[in-house]
Amino acid sequence: MNTSSPNQVNQPNSLISVDNNRISARGKSVLNSGEVALVGSGPGDAELLTIRAMRFIEQAEIAIYDRLVSDEILALLPENCERFYVGKEQAKHCVPQDRINEILVEEARLGKKVLRLKGGDPFIFGRGGEEAEYMLQHGVSCHICPGITAASGCTTYAGIPLTHRGVAQGCTFITGHIQNNGLLNLPWQSLCCPTQTVVFYMGINTLSKIAEKLVEHGRDINTPAALIRKGTQPEQKTYRGTIGNLAELVKKHNITPPTLIVIGDVVNQLTTEQLTTPGFLDAKNYTSQGTDQETNAIEQQTKTA
Ligand code: SAH
Repeated sequence: MNTSSPNQVNQPNSLISVDNNRISARGKSVLNSGEVALVGSGPGDAELLTIRAMRFIEQAEIAIYDRLVSDEILALLPENCERFYVGKEQAKHCVPQDRINEILVEEARLGKKVLRLKGGDPFIFGRGGEEAEYMLQHGVSCHICPGITAASGCTTYAGIPLTHRGVAQGCTFITGHIQNNGLLNLPWQSLCCPTQTVVFYMGINTLSKIAEKLVEHGRDINTPAALIRKGTQPEQKTYRGTIGNLAELVKKHNITPPTLIVIGDVVNQLTTEQLTTPGFLDAKNYTSQGTDQETNAIEQQTKTA
C-alpha cells in the first residue's frame, strides 16, 4: 500500500524520501507516455543518485540499462517496471549500439514511459549524445538527467581531490579505449603538465601503452597514480603506485574493469589511513601532514622530482 502524501514522490524502496514542497524544481521531472528519460545513475552507490534521477526511476514502466548500473540502483525500480538489459563490456556489446537506439524508439512508440539508465553520466563516455540524437531524429522526446561521472565519484570516495590548490590546477578526463583503427592516438603532449590530473576511463587493457606514452612525452615516471576498481560500491578497491609500476599492480592484483586510472600528485594529497570506508575520512589518529597548502605542494613536487 502506498502511504505517501500526494506531495511525496512514490518511493518503492524507502531509500530516500523527497519532499516536493521543499524542492523548487517540482514538476520538471514528469515522464509522459511515449517519452524517454536518459538518466545517469552515477558510479554505483545509490546515495549518489540525483533527486531528478530518482523521480524518473520511480515513474519508469520499462528500464533499459547497461552493465555499469549497480544492483543497488536496479533494486529501486518500481516492482512492475519491465527490465531490459543491453549491457556493454568495452567492445563486447551485448546489444549493438544501433539496436539500442532502435529499441528506445520502439518502446517509446508503444506509449511506454521509458527509462534509459546508464552508468555515471550519460554524456561522458556514455554515448548518450548519440542516443538522444537518434531519438530526436525519430520524433521521440527525451528528458536528460546528468549523473555523477566515475572520475568524480570514484576519486572522491577514494580520498583523492581531483584538483588541489598549488598541486593540480586542472583535470582532464580521457578515454584509454583503443580506436577502431587499433591505435591509441591521444594528445599525449597535453597530458604531461605536472600540475594537471589526468583520469583515464576504459584504460585498464591499454595501461602499459598509456604509461609508456606518458613517460615518452615527458611525464615523470614517479608521478603518483592510482587504480580505482568498482568505485563507490561496497567492493571498491584503490591501488596506489606510480606511473612506473601501474602495470605491475594490474598483474599482481588481477585488476579488471570497471577501473579508473588516475594520474597526478593529488593521488597522495590526503593520507589514506583515515579512509576507513569508501567516502569516509576518519579524523581519529590523524597526524597533520602540514596544513599550509604551499608547503604541501612543494613537498609533493620534491617527492616526485
Ligand atoms: N558514462 C560513464 C563512463 C562509461 S565508460 C561515467 O560517466 O562514469 C566505462 C568506464 O568508466 C569503465 O571502463 C571505467 O573506466 C569507468 N567506470 C565507470 N564506473 C566505474 C566505477 N564504479 N569504478 C571504476 N571505474 C568506473
